[in-house]
Amino acid sequence: MTTLVVAVDGPAGSGKSSVSRAAATRLGFDYLDTGAAYRALAWFCLERGIDTYGGDDLIDSLPGFEFSIGTDPDDYFVRVGAETVTNDIREPRVTHIVSSVARVPEVRRYLVKLFRGVIEGSPAAGIIVEGRDITTVVAPDARVRILLTASEEARMSRRSAELTGVDASTTARELASRDAQDSRVVDFMNAADGVSTIDSTDLDFDQTVQAVVSLVRSADPRGTQNT
Ligand code: C5P
Repeated sequence: MTTLVVAVDGPAGSGKSSVSRAAATRLGFDYLDTGAAYRALAWFCLERGIDTYGGDDLIDSLPGFEFSIGTDPDDYFVRVGAETVTNDIREPRVTHIVSSVARVPEVRRYLVKLFRGVIEGSPAAGIIVEGRDITTVVAPDARVRILLTASEEARMSRRSAELTGVDASTTARELASRDAQDSRVVDFMNAADGVSTIDSTDLDFDQTVQAVVSLVRSADPRGTQNT
């Protein structure tokens, strides 16, 4: 059986991780969080004292980066070697440097290959893969391709609600600066040809999940799990 691939791209704070994960649970699909791999590599560099600005050290470290990720949406974990780093990769020190790691072409090539291996190895009927370049680079032939957007205002207020203890203006500044850096590498603000846009500005979480699930069901002639 061929795995049905659902590609979801979008900027930070669009809700794509939580929406993709909940949609995967509803559909009985696997879920792949590609941002977690870039974050885990950034964490690995910090731990090892590797310069993240694209020098040879970073590139030479790639073969020693033992990354594993849970693709069951109900059993999500991120590991580097034997160490579980699921929460560590969300720390601000990692978020601050992740874009510098992600803009190195060798890093992107290495991780894109890794993601394609995970997609091919998925035993599930389908897999939702989310990130910034999934609809265009990682899985341009995916059966369903979605750009999940939300107004800048909505994204900032959602993100500052998630990060308690950080003031809203700091969150807004950091989010805008990360988007600006990331969009120099890939365009995740505009839908490529054939990509469906879901704008979640005026949708709540369940409505956004439902919009993704409906798109997948309408694209799947075999019929997906009806839960
Ligand atoms: O999705 P998340 O915010 O966790 O992603 C962290 C970072 O990983 C992004 O800011 C971006 O630099 C990078 N990323 C990427 N391509 C992807 C997914 C994430 O460059 N497909």
